[in-house]
Amino acid sequence: THFGFQNVNKHIKSYLVNAIFKTIATKYDLMNDCMSFGIHRLWKHFLICQSEIFYGCKVLDLAGGTGDLSILFSKLVGQTGIVVLLDNNTEMLKIGRKKLRNLGILNNVQYIQADAEALPFANNTFHRIAVSFGLRNFTNKSAALLEMYRVLNPGGKLLILDFGVPIFKLLSVLYDLYSFHVIPKIGAIIAKDMKSYQYLIESIRMHPDQETLKTMIANTGFQDIKYINMTGGIAVLHYAYK
Ligand code: SAM
Repeated sequence: THFGFQNVNKHIKSYLVNAIFKTIATKYDLMNDCMSFGIHRLWKHFLICQSEIFYGCKVLDLAGGTGDLSILFSKLVGQTGIVVLLDNNTEMLKIGRKKLRNLGILNNVQYIQADAEALPFANNTFHRIAVSFGLRNFTNKSAALLEMYRVLNPGGKLLILDFGVPIFKLLSVLYDLYSFHVIPKIGAIIAKDMKSYQYLIESIRMHPDQETLKTMIANTGFQDIKYINMTGGIAVLHYAYK
């Protein structure tokens, strides 16, 4: 497709996705609040509640962008734990780092610029890996899932938060109207960038549905895979263990 960039060469897709996040980085947090009426914060809190995090835990916030999850994790892992905020986009990481520093989070978060499909970590490094609204931007989702499996500790937990397919017909119709007609306009007004938000909408449409993603996670080798629909399936939390 055109904006979902699914049919373009891997290097072109990652170049285009990178360009989009570079363009919207400074408006990203504001746009999230406007587009979701702040509900993305509840979805992220729910992920944290399901993360079975512990003091001293080593956590990877994959495609962590401006660091919303890292902020929450850093409070829970304590000074003996570590949160790695990884993103491949310089601008998003820069804003994330600044945001965390302004909140006084200094010691237990590391920032790494890398590609989710080639993680720069040894096997079995992390107790938890969380990916929120990241997976749908990866060109090769299966390759990224294999990398997550490789760097997760045996017994460790993977949490994937992303948009899903609404489970009620009426909600689905309203959601389509909202996302195709309203979100690009909000993008045009606030971020002055309608095209980037058209990409985001299309990438949501191209994202595998709840059951397909569950199968993809299972095919990677993860076990005990479950998912929880939130807000009628508009967002979904998948979780699984290695
Ligand atoms: N996790 C954050 C959140 O929930 O607010 C940010 C999500 S944002 C929609 C998607 C992020 O994925 C962007 O920061 C983008 O730079 C990052 N990203 C896209 N492709 C990536 C890749 N191949 N490797 C690492 N990060 C990637």
